[in-house]
Amino acid sequence: VNTGSKPDISRVKSAELYEKSKTYFPGGVNSPVRAFKSVYGTPLFIEKGDGCYIWDADGNQFIDFCGSWGPLILGHNNPKIREKVTEVMQNGMSFGAPTALENELAELIIKNNRFVEKIRFTSSGTEAVMSAIRLARGFTSRDKILKFEGCYHGHSDSLLVKAGSGLVTFGETSSAGVPKSFAEETIVVPLNDKTAIEQAFAQFKDQIAAVIIEGIPANNGLIIQDEEYIHFLRKICTDNGSLLIFDEVITGFRVGFEGAAAHYGITPDIVTYGKIIGGGLPVGMYGARAEIMAHISPDGGVYQAGTLSGNPVAMAAGIATLTELNKSSFYKDLNTKAQEFVASIQRFATARNYKFKVFTIGSIFWFAFTDKDKIQSADDIDASSMEKFKIMHRELLNRGIYLGPSGYEVGFVSSAHTKIELEKAKRAIFEALDL
Ligand code: PLP
Repeated sequence: VNTGSKPDISRVKSAELYEKSKTYFPGGVNSPVRAFKSVYGTPLFIEKGDGCYIWDADGNQFIDFCGSWGPLILGHNNPKIREKVTEVMQNGMSFGAPTALENELAELIIKNNRFVEKIRFTSSGTEAVMSAIRLARGFTSRDKILKFEGCYHGHSDSLLVKAGSGLVTFGETSSAGVPKSFAEETIVVPLNDKTAIEQAFAQFKDQIAAVIIEGIPANNGLIIQDEEYIHFLRKICTDNGSLLIFDEVITGFRVGFEGAAAHYGITPDIVTYGKIIGGGLPVGMYGARAEIMAHISPDGGVYQAGTLSGNPVAMAAGIATLTELNKSSFYKDLNTKAQEFVASIQRFATARNYKFKVFTIGSIFWFAFTDKDKIQSADDIDASSMEKFKIMHRELLNRGIYLGPSGYEVGFVSSAHTKIELEKAKRAIFEALDL
């Protein structure tokens, strides 16, 4: 029941499409969060995107802060990406053989990134992380990995694992279909907790192949870690012969060209990228120093492959995207614009004493209905506050603003958002907060 101050947008066509899609796909969708289970109404079926705008099947127009969950740092339908992709497509779409385009994208990355000497392209972030874990296990000849409660690394078996009870736990599977024996190779600890890490390394001495962390955890709210903690992780991994994997599928090329590793000033052993690197087409990547990457097949014994890996059309989108991001003031301009936007929202909420905080870094933001100044572990998030997000989400849709359909998801500002749209979005957010 809409108790807000605006009528609900029309969803007649979206609802029709959803009824049909439910007959084809589980939950009517091809990725669960799209089903709008955590917010009001049926999912919106998107017809078109341009710049920072999207249009749904009913013709509703929105200023989009989801950006396909992060890849669209240049906005929708960017002409430079479109032109490059169209040009490359004239020559065919896939060969399953090497192309010069792979070299071109690799060079753009490796020449401008201190953290990878050799890389391998995959077709998704999940594959990149799954392969990075296999590489760490192959390199160290150890089986266990350590992950953090509140970090998401895609849907491979080893990583669909959540904390059990206790400070340091063998993981419990967070999905049916993941064998218990797999989960037992994954140790899960809270973020921002040194004791838990020390205990894990003591308990599983010489067994931990790698510690994996999202460069800046951004899949369960935005749980920004202290620099000192990240440096502590780096050191404890080195001291124990374990690799540190930075999963930068969100943060890579988002908080800066060199991602969270450069932000924190540390050198991870393996880095994974996805999302932005493909400019909206399916690309993931993992990379490391040459000594580690020498373990990947056919040079080494760790097998990893892909029919569409390094797909020329996807490479073209990546090249066009990263070329723009590599221009001198790209991140400064984007981050300044985004930070001004979120700062004015925070000022508004603070002036009115609302229990509302915007956590933010670069062009990533997360709206949290809390009075806490810091949220640094999954336990700091109050699940009941998500009811407030649900209302805000509906009110913002009704005012032409599109956020990802879950209060645990972050939002993204793109280079296509201009002052005009950010002003409009701010006004809508103020109204929604005032309700
Ligand atoms: N790692 C992180 C940090 C992610 O945010 C995601 C996806 O959101 C993944 C891995 C998985 O990537 P994909 O959805 O492309 O498989």
